[in-house]
Amino acid sequence: MRIANVADRAYLVVRAGDGTDRLLDIANVSEDRFGPSLVALYDSWEDFRRWADQADLDPESGAPVDRSTLSAPSPRPRQVFAIGLNYDAHAAESGFEPPIDLPPVFTKYVSAFTGPDTDVRLPSGGNVDWEVELVVVIGTETRHVHEDLAWDHVAGVTVGQDLSERITQLRGPAPQFGLGKSYPGFAPQGPFLVTPDELPDRDNLEIGCRIDDEVVQCGRTNEMIFNVPALVSKISENVTLYPGDIIFTGTPAGVGLGRKPQRFLKAGETLHTWIEGVGEMTQRFL
Ligand code: ZN
Repeated sequence: MRIANVADRAYLVVRAGDGTDRLLDIANVSEDRFGPSLVALYDSWEDFRRWADQADLDPESGAPVDRSTLSAPSPRPRQVFAIGLNYDAHAAESGFEPPIDLPPVFTKYVSAFTGPDTDVRLPSGGNVDWEVELVVVIGTETRHVHEDLAWDHVAGVTVGQDLSERITQLRGPAPQFGLGKSYPGFAPQGPFLVTPDELPDRDNLEIGCRIDDEVVQCGRTNEMIFNVPALVSKISENVTLYPGDIIFTGTPAGVGLGRKPQRFLKAGETLHTWIEGVGEMTQRFL
């Protein structure tokens, strides 16, 4: 199942007979049982899944998808977690040993959230870097969940960029991850929430991005040091996770900070981001 956010209303994304994606307003087709907002949808996620599995839907009645209207699939999570150093080669290019028991956990502020296709203004004097990441959306309240059961607590995944202004991020005496990674537009996500059953292999997906025509990151999510179930399990040891909560799961190697010479995004460049089976995004920098 795929879910879209248009103007803070939740839509099912369904395939019409002509092969195009169409949007069905969830509040309308469920006769107001679910939605209309994404927040309300995640708060009743398990009931919604049961209803959707047996619902008799007519894709032909849906409206075509206009990507310019899409917003982040979970636009107002109670909590946003972001994971650092979760791929060996990225830890190495960042000058760190890979984490053993627990990766670094920080946040991106919700004010940075946008949809999948956006223009992003570069802060003047900043060194803005790219980080493609699989983004997880939690589906049920979760505390102390075992890894073996953790995927059951996930509503779905989407594509994300953890855009990062490195000067702010690394300004001492201790790093400023939250501020450096939360300029307006620095957390694009989308195009849709994709439920794990839709994926070819939910633990092993190609993940990458390119600047204009040059591929700068290309990895696989099975290279994560802490995979999705491990992250959900470990975070839930410390805090309670709520429906709609977001986890940015870390980036593979190839960021600009780790290059020699270092490289950062410039006005006029376009960043294309993809995850196999999940979707694509496009950020144009101004
Ligand atoms: Zn990141």
